Amino acid sequence: MPTGRRAATLVTMADERAQRAARNEAAFRAVNEALHRSPRDGDALQLVCECSDPACREPVVVSRATYEAARSDARRFLVAPGHEIGEVEDVVDRGEGYCVVRKHEAFAPIVEQTDPRRQASRHPRSP
Ligand SMILES: [Zn+2]
Repeated sequence: MPTGRRAATLVTMADERAQRAARNEAAFRAVNEALHRSPRDGDALQLVCECSDPACREPVVVSRATYEAARSDARRFLVAPGHEIGEVEDVVDRGEGYCVVRKHEAFAPIVEQTDPRRQASRHPRSP
């Protein structure tokens, strides 16, 4: 049994699962961005949980300041408490009804490429 190869395969599978999770979270983030671009929302923002479960419909309510702070970093996501996954992200902030997680370095390319704000600012001065 080539154990070394088997171990490598398992790592790859875990990687793919984690990358898929990161893409799911990026998709939820895009939904929240579209929902809250308007300045007429009050201070409390009703979000969808940005965790890795594509079927998750857990509401997450945060202040606009918390939302903006999280959005300033492409690797941060807002999830419902308990929806964080330690193997792909760290909890960097926690409040009533929400958790802010930050993706591990390995997922930076995925979450940065899919960041709606980063895409919007890529050509800030184009006519
Ligand atoms: Zn969730």
